[in-house]
Amino acid sequence: MRKFLGFLFLLVFLAAIGLFVYTTRAAAPAIAINQPGAYLGAAGTFDVTVTTPGGELTRLDVALEQNGQTHQLFTLPGREGVTLKQEDENTVRVTGPVGKRAVPALANGAARLVVTAERPLLEGYRSRRADAARDLTVRLTPPVVAVVSRHHFINHGGSEVVVYRVTPAEAASGVRVGDREYPGFAASGAVQGADPSLKVAFFALAWDQDRDTPIHVFARDEAGNEARSSFDYQVFPKPFRKSRIELNTRFIERVVPEILAQTPDLPVDDPNNLEAAFLAVNGELRRRNNAFVKNLAAKTSSSLLWSGPFKQLSNTQVEANFADQRTYFYEGREIDQQVHLGFDLASLANAPVEASNAGAVVFAGYLGIFGQCVVVDHGMGVQSLYAHLSSIDVKEGDKVARGQTLGRTGMTGLAGGDHLHFTMLVNGESVTPVDWWSAQWVEDRVLRKFREAGAPGN
Ligand SMILES: [Zn+2]
Repeated sequence: MRKFLGFLFLLVFLAAIGLFVYTTRAAAPAIAINQPGAYLGAAGTFDVTVTTPGGELTRLDVALEQNGQTHQLFTLPGREGVTLKQEDENTVRVTGPVGKRAVPALANGAARLVVTAERPLLEGYRSRRADAARDLTVRLTPPVVAVVSRHHFINHGGSEVVVYRVTPAEAASGVRVGDREYPGFAASGAVQGADPSLKVAFFALAWDQDRDTPIHVFARDEAGNEARSSFDYQVFPKPFRKSRIELNTRFIERVVPEILAQTPDLPVDDPNNLEAAFLAVNGELRRRNNAFVKNLAAKTSSSLLWSGPFKQLSNTQVEANFADQRTYFYEGREIDQQVHLGFDLASLANAPVEASNAGAVVFAGYLGIFGQCVVVDHGMGVQSLYAHLSSIDVKEGDKVARGQTLGRTGMTGLAGGDHLHFTMLVNGESVTPVDWWSAQWVEDRVLRKFREAGAPGN
């Protein structure tokens, strides 16, 4: 009997050790604080994911600690205004507000977001706990932004510039046109001796946006606090033309195989079906090429690299206008519609292609529908694009002067004949070059604003 009791005692002892090892070795929930980052603003949110087997938790607390006080933001089973959802089998995500409205006592200064999560073990008889925290800085005061330039006139499909002041000067700022943002740059890149709070932003009212699209200047600090300033402007309608393009088999046979050979990653079901291959080039490839050009805006210089009006290619005739709505016909049928985002300029075959103004080459090479193509950056988001070249004389990184030869005109890419396809870009958005070719427009819309901004009192 004594032996049996001893054996039983040993069994219980071993089981207890096993349980102890199991409950201490079982993984604790893994907590990730995705939001807020290092700064918390007036309209801040928290975003926390917890990974644990089956997403099962017996406790999940999110709290903000500041000045010796703890403000509970979330606790199980839930709280109004806070979203708790199971993201996948083992992941739970909780998101909710942590700004001034959710925590009225929130004040400028240091604070700490604290998260505690517990998972059940042994049918809930035991548990395993994890804690995580993030130290952050609360900033509740939005930046201050005020427009200083006057007389803003925008041609639909064209460009404009605004000069404004932001404090603190480090806040990100720019112009928002509907859902599109145009970054601002320190005015010292264009106006000598401008103080750091003075900013400049080129922007566009794109051809595909409504004429009454709202436009304002914004400034946003690291904590996400945003200030806006409206300014006076006037929009001039510019009717976009419709044009009809007759495709013939000879044209498609010339351009499509060349483009497909240069673009092996373009999905085409049957390369021998000329019409289907043309539609893939004119649709999907055009979309990809435009997206690539848009991304070149990130390579822009923060300084103005040009001076004076932009140069239209010498001795050229305009063959197609900006934002022509083109309908494509093949064998008597309408097969496609696209918008032509540029100007077609025709001169003699293999004519020298001149840089429209001073700048730096940000792209030189083959680019799908544009064929052999050069993009020149003029600084502060303004760029120019030259397409269908037969040869290129510059390479990425080259500085170019106004009128310098970039290459020769040709008919590479989606081109019906030897011509230069030219467009101006503002932060990657195609805009009409007519504004930029006009000495009066450049003087009134841009240079005068920079001069006035540099004048004492601004
Ligand atoms: Zn063109």
